[in-house]
Order: sequence, then C-alpha cells, then structure tokens
Amino acid sequence: MSPRSAAIGAHAYLPGSGSADYGVTEYDLDLRYRVATNRLDAVATISGTAHTVLRAIRLDLVHLKAKRVRLRGDATAKYSQSPTHLTVRPSTPLPPGADFVLEIDYAGSPAPRRTKWGTLGWEELDDGVLVASQPSGAPTWFPCNDRPSDKAQYRIRIATDASYTVLATGQLVERTVAGRFGHWTFAQAEPTATYLVTVQIGRYEIEPRRSAGVDWVIAYPLPLAARVRHDLEPVGRMLEVFQELFGPYPFPSYSVVVTEDALEIPLESQGMATFGSTHIDGQSGSERLIAHELAHQWFGNSVGVASWQDIWLNEGFACYAEWLWSERSGGPGADTLARRHLELMRRMPPDLVIGDPGPDAMFDDRVYKRGACLLHALRITIGDAPFFTLLQTWTRTHAHGVVTADEFRSLAASVAPEPLDGLFREWLDQAAVPALPGTGIS
Ligand SMILES: [Zn+2]
Repeated sequence: MSPRSAAIGAHAYLPGSGSADYGVTEYDLDLRYRVATNRLDAVATISGTAHTVLRAIRLDLVHLKAKRVRLRGDATAKYSQSPTHLTVRPSTPLPPGADFVLEIDYAGSPAPRRTKWGTLGWEELDDGVLVASQPSGAPTWFPCNDRPSDKAQYRIRIATDASYTVLATGQLVERTVAGRFGHWTFAQAEPTATYLVTVQIGRYEIEPRRSAGVDWVIAYPLPLAARVRHDLEPVGRMLEVFQELFGPYPFPSYSVVVTEDALEIPLESQGMATFGSTHIDGQSGSERLIAHELAHQWFGNSVGVASWQDIWLNEGFACYAEWLWSERSGGPGADTLARRHLELMRRMPPDLVIGDPGPDAMFDDRVYKRGACLLHALRITIGDAPFFTLLQTWTRTHAHGVVTADEFRSLAASVAPEPLDGLFREWLDQAAVPALPGTGIS
C-alpha cells in the first residue's frame, strides 16, 4: 500500500480492523487443512513496510492461535494475542519506510466470526469449505491488515485430503499429490484486498472454458452438471459485452464455483464468484446475479474502495452492470429498470444517504439500486459515448488500485460540458430520492 492510500483509507466503518501504520506487500500462506476435523495448521509469511514510527505491528486474527511469531532480523521481538488481534512488538521501533518480514505459525479450528453483517469468513460446508469475508472475515483464516485500502500480492499453498478439489485466489501454478494429501499452489500477482481472498474446497468437477479472450472455469458437484452448464452459459457473452463496455477483463482468469450447499447470497472474490446450488436452478433464475458478480471484477476487485463508506462505487456499478446486461441481452433496458427501482425507493422512508450510508446500512439494497440510478442519471446527462468512455477511463486509470467517490466525481466532471456538482449532491449526499434528468417524473 502506498502512503497515499493509507492517508485516504479512512476506516470509520470498521474502526477495530486494520492499521494505517503499515502496509503489506505480500502474504505467503502455507496451509495444511483436514476437512473431516476442520483442523488448520498454517504458516503466514507477511512482508510489509512501516508508514510511521512503528512500535507495534497490529494484525487482525480471529479464533486461531499463534504458536510462534518471528520478526526477521529481530530475535527479541515480542508478541501478544487478544481474541481479535495479534500484536508484534519489535525490540526497537521501526522507522517510517522500513521493510519487515513476519513469520507466524498458527493453528486451530477456523470458524466464521459473528458480525452485524452476519457470519463472515472461513465456513465449513456439508462436505468442504468456502470463504466469504466481505467485509471483515479474512482474519478468521489468516493474520492480516484487514482494511480494503491495503492491497497485497498473495501466494497460497494448501495441502488437504486428496479427494477434494481446491480453488483459491490466484492462478493455479502447481498441483501435486503426495500420499493422502493433494498440494495446491496459487499465485496472485495483482494487488488484492484481504476481503477478496478466498479458498473453496469441495468435491468439484472443473471445466475449463475460453470466451472473448478470457480463460474461465466452472467448478461444480457432478450431480449439478446440467443445471450449471445451462445457467452459466451466458458468462461467455457477458465477458464479451462487459469488456466492450468497461474495458479489458482485469485478471488472468475467472472461476465460477457452485457449491452443493444452498447459499443465501452469491459472493465475489478476486477472479472468482461463488454461487449456492439454489442460485443455479437450471432455469436462468440468477442471470442478473451472475452478471453482477462478474462485473465486480472491474468494479470492487480491480478498482477497489479505499473506505467502506464508498461502497456504492462497488455495488452501484455492479448493479448498473446487471441493467446493462439486461439491455444488451433482450431484457428490459436500463432506463426502464432505473425508473422501476426509483419508484420503489420513493415508497420507502428517505433515511439513507448512499454517499455515507453508515456501517449498519452499507449493504442496504438502496445503496445498490440508487448507486445504479446515479450512474443512469449521469449517462442521460452526458450522453452514451462520453459515459462509456468515462467508465473505461475509470477502470484503466485505477486498475488494481483503490479509489474514493471524490475521485469519481472529479473524473466525471472532467468529461462533462456542464458542472455535475448538483447531480452528485442530490444522488449521493441527500436522502430524498431525486428524479432522473429530462423527465421531472419517474
Ligand atoms: Zn455486489
């Protein structure tokens, strides 16, 4: 993480998570995991840089016990652990700009953590594992600086029972079987936020595909094969349409995992999306969500938020991508969908400001829908060609970085012939539901 992203990464929504005092450049995670007993034994090697005089390196770690902690080059560094944090104290403070490497042996039975947004993190399935961390579940399986602005590279090695298939964040670079264990190694070169790092373990078939120049795979339990193939068939065309509208797909590959278990909501992770068996009904019942999760690869994963306050930059854009997909695939157009959702929002109490919804409401559906309506209002105001040029400039300029809403406002203003301050103010900073431009109704 650069000092700039430390400065803009205001962390008011999760004050207990992460630290601005340092940034991590790489997590090297070596995991040994038994599915039957939910036992994890792991070593995390964390490379970072001090951003201030660093008397203590405070990492997030939940439920798991550190067994040995070393700060390279400092034999007398000390550490302590609370239920939610692991704190390492160098024998002398590290000066700003100093690089450090921590080696942390840790173990335990990983479990999701309870939060106001539900249970998050490492979760046992009926026969396997998934990790769904947004926003604060990452520390349930590795010690980390858990703030969305601190993106890092990852190398993840996982040894688990050989009868399971493993998918994790990054490209699969090695797979071997030794005795009863399968060994899988994944490398993610693109900077990645902690909440987007995932592991998926299950009895999955893997089917490789290639569409619009992008390699992608589907992973699913064999009994679901027909439903999965049917419902995921549009992904190839979505990759084509979204690259045309948003710019090149930002990662080396895309994986879509379908679990045997029912899941309440699908989830995006870096280069991956996970759906429950209930989402994949064999009748395209979740096509909207399949488009939404794919769009997060551009909006949320590559271009990430510095602060959760700006989550509309993830969800408003992904929701608008659903409408664009509808428009491009023979369904209702974005204009129809925007007006439909505005009408619904108008019947609700005007008690949400999507530019700063507060932690309790950050996943409120209105953050998604109103964020999408804002983008539609912007499209009407500046016109189709400038609007889509703006989206592509946004994804290109900030690829694999972090952003703020102010940066989007500035970029939009730079392509608009007239000031946009009023538009952004009424859609982002006020609770009353505005009208779309040019109609006075809706
Ligand atoms: Zn989303």
